[in-house]
Amino acid sequence: MHCPFCKATDTKVYDSRLVSDGNQVRRRRECLTCQERFTTFETAELVMPRVVKQDGSRQPFDEEKLNRGVQRALEKRPVSIESIEQAIDNIKYRLRATGERELSSLQVGEEVMRELRSLDEVAYVRFASVYRSFQDINEFKEEIDRLAKRDRSSDNA
Ligand SMILES: [Zn+2]
Repeated sequence: MHCPFCKATDTKVYDSRLVSDGNQVRRRRECLTCQERFTTFETAELVMPRVVKQDGSRQPFDEEKLNRGVQRALEKRPVSIESIEQAIDNIKYRLRATGERELSSLQVGEEVMRELRSLDEVAYVRFASVYRSFQDINEFKEEIDRLAKRDRSSDNA
């Protein structure tokens, strides 16, 4: 780590603590040459698993695509930007937490659905209808029936 003031390479850490819920280490450093003090933040570089598509091809995890999919499902729904960002973080967290270097696109889709389901059921159904269209039409129908039944029972209540 070069000193940002004089570019010397010898710096001494004199304080080190966890910040931002333990996701970052903040280090106070002092340059041994000019004695200036500065702070560095260290964060683990979290690498997302690669995605194996159904045709067997592999591609880097596409965060933009995830964002677009989630946002499209939540279009015009009463869900705050913060909740959407939190949902996307949760999805990414769980995908990384598998510890796998590669995940199937199905697993990714399942995690998105799981998250949307707890966030907004309309968004969940929208996403599921696109995602599951040719894959699991019966399960999807059961899900719609379940939601419809529940809506009816809450109307009566
Ligand atoms: Zn210096």
